[in-house]
Amino acid sequence: MQTPSFESILEKHSISLRAREIEIFQINMGKMCNLACKHCHVEAGPNRKEIMNRETLEKCLKLIDKHNFKTIDLTGGTPEVNPHFRWFISELGKRQKEVLVRSNLVVLLENEYSDMVELLTKNKITLIASFPHIQKDRTDKQRGNGVYDGLINIIRILNNLGYGINPELKLHLVHNPVGAYLPGNQIVLEQEYKKVLQNEYGIQFNSLYCITNMPIGRYLNFLKSSGNYESYMEELVNAFNPAAARNVMCVNTLSISYDGFLYDCDFNQMINLKLKNELPQHLDDFDLEKLAGREISIEDHCFGCTAGSGSSCGGAIQLEPAVANAPMG
Ligand code: SF4
Ligand code: SF4
Repeated sequence: MQTPSFESILEKHSISLRAREIEIFQINMGKMCNLACKHCHVEAGPNRKEIMNRETLEKCLKLIDKHNFKTIDLTGGTPEVNPHFRWFISELGKRQKEVLVRSNLVVLLENEYSDMVELLTKNKITLIASFPHIQKDRTDKQRGNGVYDGLINIIRILNNLGYGINPELKLHLVHNPVGAYLPGNQIVLEQEYKKVLQNEYGIQFNSLYCITNMPIGRYLNFLKSSGNYESYMEELVNAFNPAAARNVMCVNTLSISYDGFLYDCDFNQMINLKLKNELPQHLDDFDLEKLAGREISIEDHCFGCTAGSGSSCGGAIQLEPAVANAPMG
């Protein structure tokens, strides 16, 4: 079946996708990562060389000082491997901003990066950590052998420092399906994760975010090579949720690439889908007024944000009431 375009579905529902304001300034610090997960939309890994340099980070700081962004959201790759990470976190810590670091966490178990645990704690950085599945074999299948046990160890260390317990030290986990299907109900899955992690390992976290795998990057390769691409796209299209579509994350986020280019979101960044032509394209041309109300650049991968409960960097967009006995994702 030929799936309809995202644009045509928005039109059918009279939705015009425009940014409202920039509340979240999301910086992709580079594509390097100590892992090389099977579903990674960045196609990150240890051999990637794209890393944000100090000059570009300084440009970001200037804009953060000038504008009233509510949240600074650091992503990658895993941001800790950027050689300027320690300095940048210390700088952000001096500013009264909410700072998020999206991490695979297991990087903090490596000798080279283990000192960062203290730095993150001292600066009260919110951690958003990939924890794809509550079952060990399914997490290791997606992320690599030993990752599940590594996550348990590092969360234990973080809990001892107050993460997931002290209200100023937030630790959120991210679930994403290990296969070609949509995530389950976020409320139900959070309860399940909390029960298993507390009862079996004595560890705690704040919230679970369920994120749909986007049909781009390595996940797209997987969908195509496993013959699942058409059926997955059909599933996303059939699950289109207009309420989620009105609140996708690009309406309040701006994404910055390692080389200082501006995008509507990290997904568009990875497929090099630029901002609309008439808009500033780089940190050097930053113009808040033009960017805040901009028309969003869309393509069919956007169905990943609008299916079911919707999906964003903060998890489901529209939370439904918990459904008893809903299946695990
Ligand atoms: S999914 Fe995250 S942890 Fe895995 S390779 Fe990509 S950036 Fe690294
Ligand atoms: S993929 Fe990006 S541009 Fe498309 S709806 Fe999602 S957040 Fe918006």
